[in-house]
Amino acid sequence: MKMNTCRKKSLKISALIIIGTLLAGTSLYSQNIQPREARPTKAEQTQKLQFPVNFKIGGDLAERIALTERRLQSHPFDLEFIVQDVARVEGKRRRFEEYEGDISGRVLGAWSYISRLTGNHPAKLDSVASGVLQHQSPAGWFGIDQRNDNFDQWGRQNFGHGRLLVGLVQYYKLSGEAVVRAAAGKLGDYFVTTIPQWTTAFEEHPWKKSGKVDWKNSISNRLHFIKTHQTSVLEGLMLLYDILPKPEYLDAGRQIVELFPAFGQFHSHSYLNTLVGIAMLYQHTGEDQYLELLRHNYWQEIARHGVPADGGICEWFPNDHRSEGCSITDWLRLNFKMWEITREAVYIEQAERAWLNGLNFHQTANGVFGHATLTPVGYTADCSEAWWCCLMHGFFAYAEIVNYAVAAQGDDLWFNLYTPISFELQGRKVRIETSYPAAGDITIVPGITGSKSVHLRLPEWVERFEVHIKGEAATGGMDNGYFVITRFWQSEDKITLRFPVGLRIEDLHANSLLDMRQPGDYLHPAYLFHGPLMLGIDSHYNKEIPESLIFTADADYALPFTPGAFATAGSHYQLPGQFSGHRGTTTLVPLSEQTGYSSWTDTLKNFMRNGEKPIQRAAVQTRHQIRIMRK
Ligand SMILES: [Zn+2]
Repeated sequence: MKMNTCRKKSLKISALIIIGTLLAGTSLYSQNIQPREARPTKAEQTQKLQFPVNFKIGGDLAERIALTERRLQSHPFDLEFIVQDVARVEGKRRRFEEYEGDISGRVLGAWSYISRLTGNHPAKLDSVASGVLQHQSPAGWFGIDQRNDNFDQWGRQNFGHGRLLVGLVQYYKLSGEAVVRAAAGKLGDYFVTTIPQWTTAFEEHPWKKSGKVDWKNSISNRLHFIKTHQTSVLEGLMLLYDILPKPEYLDAGRQIVELFPAFGQFHSHSYLNTLVGIAMLYQHTGEDQYLELLRHNYWQEIARHGVPADGGICEWFPNDHRSEGCSITDWLRLNFKMWEITREAVYIEQAERAWLNGLNFHQTANGVFGHATLTPVGYTADCSEAWWCCLMHGFFAYAEIVNYAVAAQGDDLWFNLYTPISFELQGRKVRIETSYPAAGDITIVPGITGSKSVHLRLPEWVERFEVHIKGEAATGGMDNGYFVITRFWQSEDKITLRFPVGLRIEDLHANSLLDMRQPGDYLHPAYLFHGPLMLGIDSHYNKEIPESLIFTADADYALPFTPGAFATAGSHYQLPGQFSGHRGTTTLVPLSEQTGYSSWTDTLKNFMRNGEKPIQRAAVQTRHQIRIMRK
């Protein structure tokens, strides 16, 4: 991972350029890694960004969204199965139903969010919402009151209820139904009343103990789990404040932050989710300590200790033997929130890396996300679909990706993510046409008129680019990772952005090994990329994994493109390799293609009501040893 410490402030340049030093980076793992340049003022931060609506989505992203939506319409996701976590019907029991509102809330949340963006309204959402609302108690909680059981059971209920609160708010934003807002408010009020009891209701409570998990002690495990399960309620409360701005919700949020533990061995999904909530609390209050807390956790803890090169976050911080789709989603979401607060492209860079690699790799052929098993150099073939959480939360990630692709504030437009997409923003139709990340060929019709600034994000690894408007080189300047064009726009103006996308080789600190002063006759640990796409050596394309790779400058290693499911044109390579006792070649393809390695099925055993078995995909090596040969 790399961040740009060499920001160009208002550097005026013609866009037909070669910028060798433009993106000189430094390692995240080196000292003093805080980003530092001017951020938006507090007044600017509190001015809300405008996000587009009425999206039409194309390409790989559209296929992936459709795949996950199809899963939610298929076995086993009938109404009875979804709402069992609030209905709690004996004889219909399913796994994790005691996390009340976890599945039903996530279905409502993710699906309502993406439906609002695309202008759809699936009927099934209405039946899930009305099915859920029947099971709310007068005191606000859903299902069975677990307050009197023990800290663990109540913590599970609170975690599920946090997801349900997010779901109710998202469904309200889609449907506008007052009864749903009232139910969300009642649940919010229940939290306001009960949060002070989190540390008093039981002799044994999560905040009484700190320190490391004792993995062999189940109570120790649960204490760590429940601690951030409960604090993750913050996100729902902050979303609720958007539709029902009662100051009590902010006060409850402040109380939750008091309980939020310092970074350590925690369930990464709920830890990151709480940080997303803290970002929302900062946006609502402007209170500096929350931004400081975010920046500390992001740069001094998570970025240094908890983010693998593909953005595939582990289930437990800071390291673990398996990853989790929910945690990848929350890492994406935290990056989008940090961008919203700072407008620094470094956060979008990380979100893009996690989207195209970690998230897409974790999507299975039937649209579910889940857990993969890590080795020191990649992943095994085991992939566990987590139908109770990652499926819906991964779907939420796609909604966030769509939402944050482009945003506006007054006369400024930010183009963050390049994918074929069209939408309406500030009442105008906007269109992006591109084959990125296959190639760096982006055409934008911003549809704007008058004097405005368009900010085009340049990926950190881009060294040369061209921007033309109506066939003429555009003039602009670099600011915070964006090429900014300020001019008087006419509605038919068309922007073309071009940059080369090819094979990249990064060392473990995300620096280009090909730019190293003297690579020497050594084997370097390395990650290989096609543009933003991480490449792997997998058992689908290779019978044998090489001990090392050999790269010779100026050689062309690109393979002719064979179209396939979730394949990206031009992203396959074949490199010479040293195998055990012989020389040969090895094929590298993007990790994200694994989604297409198997095909849809409704009959997988892991969709049984209780229990699941890992599906088998392809084992993949992502971290290689490579010798760099120069002429
Ligand atoms: Zn999950």
